[in-house]
Amino acid sequence: MQAEAPRKVEIFDTTLRDGSQAEGLSLTVLDKIRVAEQLDRLGVSYVEGGWPGANPKDEEFFARAGSGELAMADAKLVAFGATRKAGGRAETDPVMAQLLAAGTGYVCLVAKSSPWHIVETLRATTAEAIDMVADSVTFLRNNGKVVIVDAEHFFDGFWEDSNFWKDFLGVVEECGAMPVLCDTNGGMLPHQVQQVVGEARQVVRGTLGVHFHNDSGCAVANSVAAVLRGADHVQGCINGYGERTGNADLTAVIANLTLKLGIETIPPDRLALLTPVAHHIAEIVNRAPDPHQPFVGVSAFAHKAGIHTSAIARAPKAYSHVEPAMVGNSTRFVLSEMSGRSSVALKAEQMGLALNDDEASFVVERLKELEHAGYHFEVADGSLELLMRTATGWKQSFFRLESHRVVTDLREDGGVLTEARIKLFVGDQRIMEVAEGNGPVNALDAALRKALGPVHPELSRIHLTDFKVRVLESSAGTGAVTRVLIDSTDGEHTWTTIGVSENVIEASWEALSDSIVYGLLHAGALAR
Ligand SMILES: [Zn+2]
Repeated sequence: MQAEAPRKVEIFDTTLRDGSQAEGLSLTVLDKIRVAEQLDRLGVSYVEGGWPGANPKDEEFFARAGSGELAMADAKLVAFGATRKAGGRAETDPVMAQLLAAGTGYVCLVAKSSPWHIVETLRATTAEAIDMVADSVTFLRNNGKVVIVDAEHFFDGFWEDSNFWKDFLGVVEECGAMPVLCDTNGGMLPHQVQQVVGEARQVVRGTLGVHFHNDSGCAVANSVAAVLRGADHVQGCINGYGERTGNADLTAVIANLTLKLGIETIPPDRLALLTPVAHHIAEIVNRAPDPHQPFVGVSAFAHKAGIHTSAIARAPKAYSHVEPAMVGNSTRFVLSEMSGRSSVALKAEQMGLALNDDEASFVVERLKELEHAGYHFEVADGSLELLMRTATGWKQSFFRLESHRVVTDLREDGGVLTEARIKLFVGDQRIMEVAEGNGPVNALDAALRKALGPVHPELSRIHLTDFKVRVLESSAGTGAVTRVLIDSTDGEHTWTTIGVSENVIEASWEALSDSIVYGLLHAGALAR
């Protein structure tokens, strides 16, 4: 028998706990507070903040959150921990004490629900495992907590023993907690999920949660499959962060459930925050956003100019599975040397620029020349916009470069230090600044910011997020040229700029100065 899909699904974000297990992700307490604020802004139901007691950082996070430093309007803050130790008592268990000390109204407990894991890795009996859950949940409930139980390895346990999983879910609910079925190893496929969740739904009376890792590449599909069989609480991470291949990406879970299935997740009026919040959090956790991420990636609704262009312009729905604006994203036309005048004019219009025929022809010719020289405007919308503006006679007036110089010291002890000196004019004022960095781009960026910062304080919101260098064989046969791409963000929007030169510093400078000019242009600096 198939349970009906619910009308509403609770979204539980575990970026700050499970997601921060991702390789290379390291968050300060302040980062964690900022991420929690963004998740609350998006409207998720729960934010799991961390594991108090597992590390001092998480303890500090809960202390600072509790003292009012984290103000969340709607989301419930959750502390995570394990059930009491085998053979112990909840009253005297240190983890229970730490969970109480975290001061949250909500607690998520992890408990092993696979008989094999209980016997082999926990070295306990299944009866003791059930006692550990009952004792821990009862203790926390008696102390006023709402308790969620993450049933670790539930999907494996389901096939190991046809009865234990029922006993496990029964005791969780009897003690007054909500069970969450976890695919801890992340290897499940949607048809297996449908079977397991369908059967569990027959046993669980209240809210039934699911938690998927993405090792089979199916975490989002599994979450959707589970909801179709009656799960009404989905755990995952924004942008799919998490150890190994990550957790279920909540951006896609939310968009699919809401837009494809008509199920309420976050408040409907917040759906358009999906893209800005996803990018904002990527910036906080210092990860370059994935351009190909479904729904929220910059390429998610990008179309290469050509045969489709005019069709898309007439009917945007023709080649998009959803209306991009609904998730806060937008359709993007990608231009290249293959593009004709009409594609260029259309792209310009999308950027809010009006090009006349001569100007559009100029852009077409410039694109051909520049792409022949190694530029690749398909991936550099920021530089493309500046090129189009230039065609209309526009000239950036933020600064005028006199010179720059970059020196790298390689010391005997292996230390490396790069120093950049920049001389430029802002209006009539000549400015010279020197800055150090861990490489030429970093040093040039620092020097440019020092020079422009006092005049353009909005620069402090603009950051470089990624820097790519590729060496290209020059078609002109004059040796290799270097192509530099820089991704930048103002916290919510991202843009890419490009530089090409035989000299890597020159290519870097070109991409860097385009990045800053684009950022200042869109920060409203022109209007001031
Ligand atoms: Zn997990």
